[in-house]
Amino acid sequence: MFCSHDQIIVAPYVHMFNCWNRRYMYIVLFSCARTGAQPPQKSTPSANYRNRVNIQRDRAGASSDDEHQQKSEDENGLQNIQLEDLVEMIQNTEKNILLLNQARLQALERADKIIKEKEALQQEINNLEIKLSETGAQSKLSSKGMSDAEALEFDVLKEENMLLKDDITFFKEKLIEITETEESLFKLEKERALLDASLRELECAFIAAQSDMLKLGPMQHDAWWEKVENLEELLESTANQVEHAALILDGYHDVQDKVDKLEASLGATNISEFCLYLVDLLKKRVKSIEERFQACNHEMHSQIELYEHSIVEFHDTLSKLIKESEKKSMEHYAEGMPSEFWSRISLLIDGWSLEKKISNNDANILREMAWKRDSRLREAYLSSRGKAERELIDSFLKMALPGTSSGLHIVHIAAEMAPVAKVGGLADVISGLGKALQKKGNLVEIILPKYDCMQHNQINNLKVLDVVVQSYFEGNMFANKIWTGTVEGLSVYFIEPQHPDKFFWRAQYYGEHDDFKRFSYFSRVALELLYQSAKKVDIIHCHDWQTAFVAPLYWDVYANLGFNSARICFTCHNFEYQGTAPAQDLAYRGLDVEHLDRADRMRDNSHGRINVVKGAIVYSNIITTVSPTYAQEVRSEGGRGLQDTLKIHSKKFVGILNGIDTDTWNPSTDRFLKVQYSANDLYGKSANKAALTKQLKMSSANASQPLVGCITRLVPQKGVHLIRHAIYKTAELGGQFILLGSSPVPNIQREFEGIADQFQNNNNIRLLLKYDDALSHMIFAASDMFIVPSMFEPCGLTQMIAMRYGSVPVVRKTGGLNDSVFDFDDETIPMELRNGFTFLKADEQGFDSALERAFNYYHRKPEVWKQLVQKDMKIDFSWDTSASQYEDIYQRAAARARAAT
Ligand code: ADP
Repeated sequence: MFCSHDQIIVAPYVHMFNCWNRRYMYIVLFSCARTGAQPPQKSTPSANYRNRVNIQRDRAGASSDDEHQQKSEDENGLQNIQLEDLVEMIQNTEKNILLLNQARLQALERADKIIKEKEALQQEINNLEIKLSETGAQSKLSSKGMSDAEALEFDVLKEENMLLKDDITFFKEKLIEITETEESLFKLEKERALLDASLRELECAFIAAQSDMLKLGPMQHDAWWEKVENLEELLESTANQVEHAALILDGYHDVQDKVDKLEASLGATNISEFCLYLVDLLKKRVKSIEERFQACNHEMHSQIELYEHSIVEFHDTLSKLIKESEKKSMEHYAEGMPSEFWSRISLLIDGWSLEKKISNNDANILREMAWKRDSRLREAYLSSRGKAERELIDSFLKMALPGTSSGLHIVHIAAEMAPVAKVGGLADVISGLGKALQKKGNLVEIILPKYDCMQHNQINNLKVLDVVVQSYFEGNMFANKIWTGTVEGLSVYFIEPQHPDKFFWRAQYYGEHDDFKRFSYFSRVALELLYQSAKKVDIIHCHDWQTAFVAPLYWDVYANLGFNSARICFTCHNFEYQGTAPAQDLAYRGLDVEHLDRADRMRDNSHGRINVVKGAIVYSNIITTVSPTYAQEVRSEGGRGLQDTLKIHSKKFVGILNGIDTDTWNPSTDRFLKVQYSANDLYGKSANKAALTKQLKMSSANASQPLVGCITRLVPQKGVHLIRHAIYKTAELGGQFILLGSSPVPNIQREFEGIADQFQNNNNIRLLLKYDDALSHMIFAASDMFIVPSMFEPCGLTQMIAMRYGSVPVVRKTGGLNDSVFDFDDETIPMELRNGFTFLKADEQGFDSALERAFNYYHRKPEVWKQLVQKDMKIDFSWDTSASQYEDIYQRAAARARAAT
């Protein structure tokens, strides 16, 4: 250990110094004894010695000649004594030099050792660093793809690495100190060399002094003393150097202590062992993490296996349940299957007929069986499931026996159908009325354009038929793909024209420059499809100007081809849109221009073009519009130029109020709502209000604030100026307002965008200028009041939907609004019918009076309000009544048709 070496190294120096001190003390005491002077207590040995010698010299100079002889003898005696002392002193100095040399050699040896140890230490640290960086890299690699817990484990390891690094930094610092020690040793060595040189000088001087003394004799005292002084100085400087060396040695001692400590700590930690230990520890950790990883993996695999197993079990149970439920439903539908099933069967039959897999006659018989929901068809279908199509056809054909049906075969040809292709109320009517008629035992089919933008996800079993229907258009025949599928349980045909103009690949339903061309083309293919499928249709029901073309086409072209079993019903949902074109266009669609371009046929009443709505009025067997009041209104101004034509054909013209699809619009089952609710449990209504206001970031601080809703196309017909006014009026009355609507008219859209901007920081007003079906459901549910301030309204569905969702309507008394909303304060109307607030004059005062009354009831008579809400929710707006009226007029038309053949 360094401690023992330290003693070995330091001892010669101490001894040497002690010897020198003793020697010095000896000289001083000797001089003092002779002069009677007191020995100095605290002064440098060399200075004192010089003083005393000088005193003796002065005294000697002052002695008399008489005493010269005696003095000379004395002096000789003194010289001898001094010489002896000097010799002894030189001998001691020689001894000291020897000792210093020994110490120097030992110090050198020790320095060598320290350097070697330092190098070994440096090497170990380098190794340790390499290992640590490798371990760090491994840690990084291992940590990739590990779980969070393992990452934590690695964090601990990382921390330990950091500590190790700190240790290494500490050891490095110590090494620097060792290097400094080396430097000190080097200085020491230098000092020693100087000391050596001084001693050699001293030796030389002493030898010279000895010979001089012998040569010079007693008379040369001064010169001798001078030399003694020189020697003294030399001794003094040597003493200084020794002193300095002792100081350095002290410093070295400190350094040595540090080295000892370092060695001790090195001994305690043993870097290489420690490093190995850490590496070992890291390896163990990595291994344990790997093991845990594997264990996790294993567990995961077994979980996955378990999961897969349970999925298989789940599938088994599911298929069992499906089988059971099929069995049960077969039992349940003892007299038939759901509409969806029968629609699919009749589509299958139609497909086979069009693809010429079965004869038209067999198809008619089978269609009638499907329409009558014949259980034999159901059983044949279920037992042939999964088998080849031919087997199913054969099993069906075995049952193809002629029969009769009390129901009607009704085909709707339309441009919209909810929810697959909806723009407005027309879409709701097609599916609502279709479903209601189907429920009443009629065979209902729908023909629609196959739009690229329609909601394909709302169609079940969409498939293209293996047949192409050729259709005439502008002097050529064009192929059309026919797709079938079911929507809301109804059989639907989708026509995809192969015309180069890609009529229904426009990413929108209406608003194209060639709309007239697109929809007249579609009307012709629809009839062609019915004609080619040789169906014995009772009623072909066309809607609005888009399919009004069907009526003249049917009677002028197809009836002449023998396809004349059907009677045409035309419903005008809005006389505002009539569809006009140059007369020559009739020829492009295969019609006789001369025959049709006449004032009593298709020529428009006010200009020279042909008008398809007029053509439909003239050529249809039944003309309907969507409410009795509107039917009245269109006989005058509301007819938009067709009032005279309507008057002429008034016997076949009737107004039937639309219903709403109560399956789609049902607050107790509506999947778009946050909370379903009913008239008897209104909690859900306020919950939906809270949810929607939160969603739209509106204030919900004042729960007693009524929420006014409005969902509409923003067109002049809907009273946009009153809608705009209603926003400000509601704000003024302290209510909240939500508008959902978009406009095909650019300046109206811009105007409402401006209002939306104006209110964007207002917590009570929201304008959502878009079409959003889901949001419309939520607004109906959340609102307390619903405004429909239309200028004219053929029927209007939103006021009925609003009432079903417990939102009290505030409407203008016009068209269908007049037939469905009755003022709460109108005492001329029976109380049980009063369900909303109405106004007549289409101005702000009129609107304000109705809205203010509604607000008053809401705030001041909450109980009355609640009863009104509950009453509105219970009103039957289903298609049942309306569908019966349609069925009735269809039946009469069909009976006339039968009588005619
Ligand atoms: P019209 O057929 O004249 O547009 P209706 O009241 O007869 O008016 O029918 C409108 C139908 O369209 C309703 O079902 C209504 O909810 C829906 N509707 C209108 N505008 C929007 C809109 N912006 N977003 C969602 N649904 C809308």
